[in-house]
Amino acid sequence: MAAATVPSPLALRIVAECPVTKARACDLALPHWTVSTPVFMPVGTQGTLKGITADQLESLGCQICLGNTYHLGMRPGPDLIERANGLHGFMNWKRNLLTDSGGFQMVSLVELSEVTEEGVKFKSPYDGKEILLSPEKSISIQNSLGSDIMMQLDDVVSSTVKGPRVEEAMHRSIRWLDRCIAANKHPDRQNLFAIIQGGLDAQLRKACLNEMTQRDVPGFAIGGLSGGEEKDDFWRMVTLSTDYLPREKPRYLMGVGYAVDLVVCVALGCDMFDCVFPTRTARFGSALVPWGSLQVKQKQYAKDFQPIDPDCQCPTCKRHSRAYLHALFKSDTAAMHHVTIHNISYQLTLMRSVRQSIVDGRFPEFIRTFMKRMFPSPDQYPGWAMEALASVNVALD
Ligand SMILES: [Zn+2]
Repeated sequence: MAAATVPSPLALRIVAECPVTKARACDLALPHWTVSTPVFMPVGTQGTLKGITADQLESLGCQICLGNTYHLGMRPGPDLIERANGLHGFMNWKRNLLTDSGGFQMVSLVELSEVTEEGVKFKSPYDGKEILLSPEKSISIQNSLGSDIMMQLDDVVSSTVKGPRVEEAMHRSIRWLDRCIAANKHPDRQNLFAIIQGGLDAQLRKACLNEMTQRDVPGFAIGGLSGGEEKDDFWRMVTLSTDYLPREKPRYLMGVGYAVDLVVCVALGCDMFDCVFPTRTARFGSALVPWGSLQVKQKQYAKDFQPIDPDCQCPTCKRHSRAYLHALFKSDTAAMHHVTIHNISYQLTLMRSVRQSIVDGRFPEFIRTFMKRMFPSPDQYPGWAMEALASVNVALD
């Protein structure tokens, strides 16, 4: 693999399209690296990947990871990071970075936040001062961080909220997108992605898609999902979005990271995913495996000398047994790191296998094998997944 230098900040080349589903395999050329999609992007900074180094992420084959604008914007602050040659220099990470707008963290982490047309107002959890995160401010921080992909500030409402607030947030997100586009100081080297909103209302989603796809942005995210809504609503909004998104631009489904969801949403036409779940669950001793998950802390593994997954090629599985990790969890935080490495490796390996099957023209077969392995019997297949897959011509037996 060679680092790609591209004249424009983003180029998407479709390598293969599944003839049955809406899945596609692409090469996404970004300023620091060419990313093979479909791709899962781990969260690479501030807390979530505690103790995992840029080197380790790289050796797991990670081509793009996330940085948290909210955390980095507060501490150590955008000025310091800019002086360190951006977040790439600060982290010593040579591949791509995607930064979020900071808005989501504010709404979810900070209790006292207020959304006005100007932006999101909140009290700093560090010193109690009132801070306004406007679209311009969010882009200014992300310009300082120097990420390859920046996310627009959007007006986030929980996916379970209904009524006029959802419509208001959708229209405001469109206005904020225009302000973000105007505020981007580095359109030649930093890609700004729009975020499709509209809650669980098909008409609002379509209206948002129609407006946002008229803007000249390098890529689109599907936002406002994965927040506790019914899975049945979730997949319908995903597939509606990919139906209207332009074929020649990347599609990023935000906040999705369960293996089944990833496989189904690739079939529905999504290219990029992120989620804190795989790393968060690792810290509780939950290792992701092709048959679901393995709880390392459970007694039954105390004398089990197999690796977490005998077929896994990650450094943890090559070196350590379930029994060792079980014992380590009682005394040492290193156990969390070992399971975190395994879980990131699981996600990245899963997506590589998905991609290979699309390239080889056997993705529907891959899905059937994957589901058989994940669930002890077909009557345990989730109904929503079966329906979603049926909508793209894949029948599970
Ligand atoms: Zn492993």
